[in-house]
Formats: sequence, structure tokens, C-alpha cells
Amino acid sequence: MLTNLQALDQQFIWHPFTPLLTSPAPLPIVRGEGCYLYTADGRKIIDAISSWWVNLHGHSHPHIAAAIALQAHTLDHVIFAGFTHQPAIKLAQRLLEILPTNQNKVFFSDNGSTATEVALKMALQFFYNQNQRKTKIIAFEGAYHGDTFGAMSVGERSPFNAPFQPLLFEVAFIPLPTTTNWTAVCAEFQQLIATQEVAAFIFEPLVQGASGMRMYEGNLLDQLIGLAQKQGVICIADEVMTGFGRTGKLFASDYLTNKPDVICLSKGITGGFLPLGVTTCTQAIFAAYQDKDLMKTFFHGHSYTANPIVCAAANANLDLLLQPSCLDSIQRIAKQHEVFAKTIGNLSAVRSIRNLGVILAIELETNQETSYINEARSTIYDYFLEKNILLRPLGNVLYVLPPYCITNEELQTIYQAIQVFLMGSKYN
Ligand SMILES: *Cc1c(COP(=O)(O)O)cnc(C)c1O
Repeated sequence: MLTNLQALDQQFIWHPFTPLLTSPAPLPIVRGEGCYLYTADGRKIIDAISSWWVNLHGHSHPHIAAAIALQAHTLDHVIFAGFTHQPAIKLAQRLLEILPTNQNKVFFSDNGSTATEVALKMALQFFYNQNQRKTKIIAFEGAYHGDTFGAMSVGERSPFNAPFQPLLFEVAFIPLPTTTNWTAVCAEFQQLIATQEVAAFIFEPLVQGASGMRMYEGNLLDQLIGLAQKQGVICIADEVMTGFGRTGKLFASDYLTNKPDVICLSKGITGGFLPLGVTTCTQAIFAAYQDKDLMKTFFHGHSYTANPIVCAAANANLDLLLQPSCLDSIQRIAKQHEVFAKTIGNLSAVRSIRNLGVILAIELETNQETSYINEARSTIYDYFLEKNILLRPLGNVLYVLPPYCITNEELQTIYQAIQVFLMGSKYN
């Protein structure tokens, strides 16, 4: 039976990533606190995936909520061309303090997709402004960089973007490097960049999120970046998912010796409260736009660029994130994941298991290849939701990516449910 809210929802709303005829009605949520979401009919659901990877400190955290309220009463919004404000300046300064030191300028946009669009355009126009014909882009197979056209173009061709594939621009996709394929991947990469036609190399550092939390060695990525930078290729780290502590360090780029030229941030940047995208770059990239010729301007912007309320939320998020107790929590969660991974690693329902920082991914044994559209997904999703745990598998990859405020007891609740599920799986 649909509740009144669900009936109205069905009448008026089109939900993202949701098949229209076969999906159950969405659950009305009335309140969020800590790791929990509260439904209209009184259920308390533990958010084990940080609501699509955005939440860092729990829902409705009072510190961020207060900062938003204060800013909303002070300055709601102002056009960001020709005007500026303290919340944006403070945020830019603080981000550059914690990002790799080669990052020098902050460009604001609205979400993860726009952050990567900006990065790609920034890199392409960098060469255009200097009359250099470099228009090719390299990305990894299995990449996901967002749902707008440029972002889709540099992402893996998949059933999700099939309707648009004829319109996506060409990109050179190389396999994710492993110790086994390294010689071949490295040779292919070197061949590509030797053409002097490559403008940019874009990657999700260390972990490919959407394609199933696929992890790869930072050391191999580091070598690719080194090679690319020697040839003048702009290296873009899409840290939309990995940023703000997810991998155990503040940024995945912190694991690298060769620092990316451009970094994309979003998701966790406001602690999960409001949408914000940020693209940062080196002084060298910025310099290619400092010109008396107006045509060398970066003509890109969005109506809500650097919205003060959003920036205030991001600043409040940083207050919480940079507290030693929060950084300790990230390490604590990483340790818990590690221990749990060991206890379930040998179950026959588990094909493989990987963990880095607060990310724990369990690839399940199924008859189907890993893909987001996978019958296992909805079955597993329903199974855990019935137990009041929000886990949303990526194909046959079950993963936990919790807010940092989660306690060990709450983690145990999730682990135990997963263990029971794995033991009862038809593969055991
Ligand atoms: C989620 C994600 C994006 C897209 O961000 P949106 O805010 O959903 O547009 C881009 N890159 C990566 C790595 C992501 O995980």
C-alpha cells in the first residue's frame, strides 16, 4: 500500500537512476541524525553508504546546520563574477592549505560532474590559449566521472550512457594498471603521450568508485603521472569520491609522489549537506589564462557558483573533519574494516574483498559478470533494507562506506548482517 506521500511522489516526481515501472515506491524519510535515517512510518535505518558517499559526520550535524542558518541570515547569494565574499575566500584558502602544495587556485561549480567538466575544459583551453593543438584525453577503463556530456565521454562506455554514445567524444581508454599488465599498460600509455596530441589524463586516484570500488596501486598511478607530466600532459585527479578522508588520508593524492595538476572535489566537501563542486589547479595552468586577450578568458560559470551558504557549510565541514578526533575515527573505521575483511575473506560466497580507508568492498560470487545492472543488486538491497540497513550494491559488489561518526557497535551491526547474508548465500 502506498502512503499518501508515496502517492504524491509518484504523481509528481521522476527519480534519478530509477527504472519507472519495476522499482518499489521510494521510502519517505522525515529526519536524519547521526548515522540514521528515520522513515515516516517510524523505522530507523542505518546509512552504511553515507547517502551516495556524501555524508561525513552524520546527518543534520548541528555545527554545519548552524553555520548554514547563520549564513542564510547574513548573505544568501551574490553573483560571483565581479563580486566576492568571505565564505568563498575562507574556503578556498583552507582547501589550498590541505591539498597538495602545487595546487594554487580554486574554481567553484555545483557538483561532481561540473567539477570534472571544468577540469577538462580548463586543460583543453590551457593548450588552446597557447596555440597548441592538443585535444586528446586519456582515461581508465571502468572510469566514472559524472553524468554530463563531457564527464560521460571520459567515462566507461556502459549501458547507462548507451543512448548517448554516438555523441560522446573519443577518448583513449587504458586498462587499470596491475602488477600483471603493467608492462603492456605502460607501453600503451607512453605510445599515446608520445604523439604530443594528448591534453589531459583523467583518473579516479586509487579507487574507481562507481565501477565497483575497484582499487589499484598508487605506485603504478604515480609512475603514469610522472610519465605524463614529462610530456606536458595535464593530470586530473577526480577526487569527488576519494576526497576528504575516504581513503584514510585527506586526499588519495596524498599517497602519490607525483602530484596531479588539477584536482576535482565534491561529494564530501559540505559534509553531505549541500551541493558544491570545486576544481583546483596549479599556478602554471592559471597563468595560461592571464592575458590581455579577452578570448583567453575561461568563459565558464554557473548561476550559483560559490554560493555563500554552501561555502559556509563546507567551512563548517572542514572544522569537523580536521579535528584530531575525526581523523582518529577514520583510522578506527579502517582498522575495523580490516579485521572484518579477514573474518569473511574465506567464505565461498566472497569472490574477492578489498579495503582502503573507510571503504570496504566485497565482490560476491555470482554467475554474472560485475555490472551495475545486475539482478543481485536489487535482491541484496531489499534484503538489507528489510533489516534497516542501507546498503546499495554496485552490481555484485557490496560495499560499506559509512559516515565517520559511526561507532564500532554500529559497524558490528552492519558486519553481522553482512556475515549472516554471506553464510546464507546460495554459494555456501
Ligand atoms: C559521484 C562522482 C562524480 C559525479 O558527481 P555528481 O555530484 O554526482 O555529479 C564524478 N566523479 C566521481 C569519481 C564520482 O564518484
